[in-house]
Amino acid sequence: MEDLGKNLTEQMLKNNWGQRYNALIKEVLADKDVQMFIRSHDKLTKDDILKSFSKLYEFVNVKRQIAAGKEVFIPGYSPNLIISDHHIEVEYIPTKELLAKQKQLELNRRFKIISLPKNVRKANLDDYFTNNDDRRVALLKSLEFIEKYTANKNEFCKGLYLCGSFGVGKTYLLAGVANRLAQKGVQVTLIHMPSFAVEMKGSISKNSTLQKIDEIKKVPVLMMDDIGADQMSSWFRDDILGVILQYRMQEGLPTFFSSNFTMEQLQENYLTINSRGEAEPMKAMRIMERIAFLADEVNLVGDNLRNSN
Ligand code: ADP
Ligand code: MG
Repeated sequence: MEDLGKNLTEQMLKNNWGQRYNALIKEVLADKDVQMFIRSHDKLTKDDILKSFSKLYEFVNVKRQIAAGKEVFIPGYSPNLIISDHHIEVEYIPTKELLAKQKQLELNRRFKIISLPKNVRKANLDDYFTNNDDRRVALLKSLEFIEKYTANKNEFCKGLYLCGSFGVGKTYLLAGVANRLAQKGVQVTLIHMPSFAVEMKGSISKNSTLQKIDEIKKVPVLMMDDIGADQMSSWFRDDILGVILQYRMQEGLPTFFSSNFTMEQLQENYLTINSRGEAEPMKAMRIMERIAFLADEVNLVGDNLRNSN
């Protein structure tokens, strides 16, 4: 390979170009990739190579800049030499890193997280640790949902209502399901319900309540995390939660929940008593009917995994 570079360089240098240019040619032709390229294209004449010298120079130069970690004019792409119409050209190919970044961005667009820590994006069902029957059943039902829903998005699929104590892994499982769905092209939103309630309260003064409800209610797969963890107003229960659930029920849109309460406890402890301390059992029952229509209750009992990893 070295010989080839040397011969070619010597022949080219017989021409009387300026010293600097000669030095440049020598340098470019000494590049291993350039030598390999010339070697594998034996139809290229010296003349062809000289005519395309600027391309070879560009190739070597950009390659060097990338190796030195410098900013290049098309970041994320690496140069590659090709023959196009008897000329040498440089094509730019996306690097593995760029492709991975683009894939991640695409996933982030599909899997929306509202008011939850960013690290829930890392939840992966492959790493879902199952040390008891509850966790095994929950994982199995989650996988069944993914399979059924992705096989036919037009058929209504019940989501899961995960209930269990703090740290048992409810949010992790929801996020794992969301990630898997996003990888399969499904749009999913995971929303932290107590924060959503605060946000909705704030939306009144901004006149954006209806628009926010609209956005959330239409998401193909919606996951309501930690429902029951705050104190709810009748307004939020009936005009926000009730409206979203009603729409999803009518349209058959899959909805997941997670809560420290069982469905029964949620109805009695959370949905029934309003923030003024009054009992509204009928209204609570109506909301619970919708939740029960949308999701199957799955109990998650187990050790608190928080701070254990
Ligand atoms: P919950 O929402 O029920 O309060 P989390 O989902 O926040 O609990 O889980 C608590 C911690 O344990 C998190 O750090 C999470 O990443 C981890 N975790 C939960 N379940 C699992 C699991 N099955 N496999 C691996 N890590 C888990
Ligand atoms: Mg949680």
